[in-house]
Formats: sequence, structure tokens, C-alpha cells
Amino acid sequence: MKKDALFLEPFIQERIWGGQRLRHLFDYQIPSTKAGEAWTISAHPNGPSVVKNGQWKGRTLQQLWQEHPELFGKTSPLGHFPLLVKLIDANDDLSVQVHPDDFYAREQAGEPHGKTECWYVVHAEEDAEIVLGHHAQSKAEFSEMVGSGAWEQLLRKVKVKQGDFFYVPSGTLHAIGKGIVILEIQQNSDITYRVYDYDRKDVNGKARPLHLDEAMNITRLPHMDTTQEVIFQQQEVFQLTRFIEGDYFTVEHWKVMGKVDLSMKKTYLLCSVIAGEGKLVMENTYDLRKGDHFILPAGNADYRLYGEMELVVASEGNG
Ligand code: ZN
Repeated sequence: MKKDALFLEPFIQERIWGGQRLRHLFDYQIPSTKAGEAWTISAHPNGPSVVKNGQWKGRTLQQLWQEHPELFGKTSPLGHFPLLVKLIDANDDLSVQVHPDDFYAREQAGEPHGKTECWYVVHAEEDAEIVLGHHAQSKAEFSEMVGSGAWEQLLRKVKVKQGDFFYVPSGTLHAIGKGIVILEIQQNSDITYRVYDYDRKDVNGKARPLHLDEAMNITRLPHMDTTQEVIFQQQEVFQLTRFIEGDYFTVEHWKVMGKVDLSMKKTYLLCSVIAGEGKLVMENTYDLRKGDHFILPAGNADYRLYGEMELVVASEGNG
């Protein structure tokens, strides 16, 4: 049977720190000036993706995952879709936050997945920075610094530039800073414990809730940076960088500079075109351009990419 690539409609989410860069960078039709996130490959009920082409047009990713497991290389529907891909426009600083692991999410939040995430920096203004980890050595020190608002001492800041990649395992205190657009690949979860929100108020004069007890329970102490060997392969017209091969996802950056013939090694791929344009050739041919997000379903043994473009490609687990 013919297996269409599944092109998905981004689901836009307004945020108090959002802006207009998703519209400007990716040409999305977004009326809001506070667009913070575009959930681009999502089976999460808080922002479901809908297929916009081919035989599955109008179906949600969640429906296909349940009703057509063969598209994902499965023989029967297996729980929840594992991953979520988003674009995030930090027009202002995002809150300092931490996410739970699977065990805590199940036991304490009644949710199927914790949230380990990773970020590919699509755009960064000069001197833009993130928070990744903290400087507290013990729970007591962490608690004291949070209690007294000693954020400058507590938060570990890292400068970022376009093309950087960061792995953010559950339990890592983190924040995306102002002036950064990232593509985030994460476990399919929406659980966030907020530690600090810069004392901001929303349009109704209300502060967003903090979750200090939960954060205290799950933040890794002391912080340890996770380093992974980056694998780099260069061919004449194709350059592959594998940033992470982890328990939850494998993430690669592909640069296409001509005509490339590829064969599927994973059961299905989550693909985001982040620069340039070109074509995807399987049984059908699809135009690709910056801002397109699609799933290459299982069962497509060989396919061709051509053009001048960059993609971030994720797959489930480390299989
Ligand atoms: Zn996060």
C-alpha cells in the first residue's frame, strides 16, 4: 500500500512571553502577536496535529497512532505517541522550570510520560542565553537560594548561538532566554513545575502559579551536565550530525546540498525543515520548504531528498 508522508498543521499556542518570530521566520499564518509555541508534530490533547495532505487528510496524529499502527511500524496500538516536536519563540524570558521523570509523572501527576527534552537553536540574538542547571550543592542550599530569591547565584547561564544543541533530561532546572527560537523534541508530556517567573503578571494582573514543592522533589542536586558524543558524517552532498541517541529519542541534523538517496533505518521519522527548500521523493513527490513538518511513515524503504535545505530529524528511542 502507498504510504504518504504525513504533513502536519502547526498548532499555535499563545504565551505571555511569545512574539511574532514564528510568523516571520516560517511564514505561518498567525494573527496573534503573542505566539509562543507551535506544536508541529503532536499527538498531545493540549495541541493535536492534524494531517493536511493525502489519504489521511483531516485525521489527527493521535487517531492514526491508534487506528493505523502499521504507519509507525507497530502491529497493535501501543499506549501513547511517545514524542512531541515544537517550535518555541522566546520573545521574553521563559520561566525557570523543571520537569519530572516517568516515575514521578505516573505516581504524582497521573500522566503517562515524564519530560526529557532537547533543543536545537534555530535562531538566537547576540548574547542570548539559557539557564541550564544551577549552582546549589545541596537541597538546603537550593531551598535557601530559591526562598531568598538569589537567582543570580543559583542559576547556571549558558550563552547560545544558532545551531547549538542542548540535551535537557528530566530533573534539570532550565529556562529559555529572550531572543531565542528553538526546535524542541521532547517526550509527549505537558507537565511543568515552575520555580521562578520573574514576578510577571498576565493581562488580568495574575501571576502564573509556582510549584516549589514539586520542583524541590525532582530537581537533580547537584547539577551535572550531560555530555554525549556527537557523531558527524560528511558526504559530498549530505552532512549528518547526530546530537543524541538516548532512551527517549535520537535527534539528527541533516544538511542536503544536492540529490541524496536514503533508506529508512528507523521505523518512522519525525522531520522538520528548518532552512532552505527542496523535494522529498517516494512514490509521490512532495515540495519541502522551511517550516514544514512531516512524518515519514514506516514501510518506506528508500526515498530521495534533493535541494538545498536543513532538517532536524527525530526518531523514537535509540532503536
Ligand atoms: Zn522545559
